Amino acid sequence: MASEASEQTIKPDGVQRGLVGPIISRFEQRGYKLAAIKLVTPGREHLEKHYADLSDKPFFPGLINYMLSGPICAMVWEGRDAVKTGRVLLGATNPLASAPGTIRGDYAIDVGRNVCHGSDSVENAQKEINLWFSKEDLVTYKQSQHSWIYEK
Ligand code: GDP
Ligand code: MG
Repeated sequence: MASEASEQTIKPDGVQRGLVGPIISRFEQRGYKLAAIKLVTPGREHLEKHYADLSDKPFFPGLINYMLSGPICAMVWEGRDAVKTGRVLLGATNPLASAPGTIRGDYAIDVGRNVCHGSDSVENAQKEINLWFSKEDLVTYKQSQHSWIYEK
């Protein structure tokens, strides 16, 4: 799989619990490249767009209120297979079903407090990156470790 970009959002519980650093470290240490990052407090409309595909779920109002409950940290991580591997780093939606070693498996218990979002497909990643970031926010640079992470 070629290099791709994935959007991750550290949710309000992740920020308040001091997990911004540990979550960033997991992506850094795996070898992914940070392309954009910001701490934001988006409004209801923005969050309803982010989770538009879940709007008919019974937990949707609670999910939006959870996401509105404090600052969140939006990020773009780039690298080979970044979307699929980002999901592996994140763990399952329900933290109790997430393996230890994953973000949710190490830091969360409740599905309604699962600390981080990650794009679930390349197509959705592009939509989410466009929703959270403007073109100027996305930084292009060569990762100095590149040849130590990738053979080709
Ligand atoms: P994700 O891609 O693993 O984050 O999962 P989804 O896209 O299916 O759901 C988005 C978010 O909605 C999840 O991360 C949870 O915070 C929340 N969520 C999903 N399913 C449930 C549920 O059954 N109950 C509650 N309370 N929240 C849920
Ligand atoms: Mg999802």
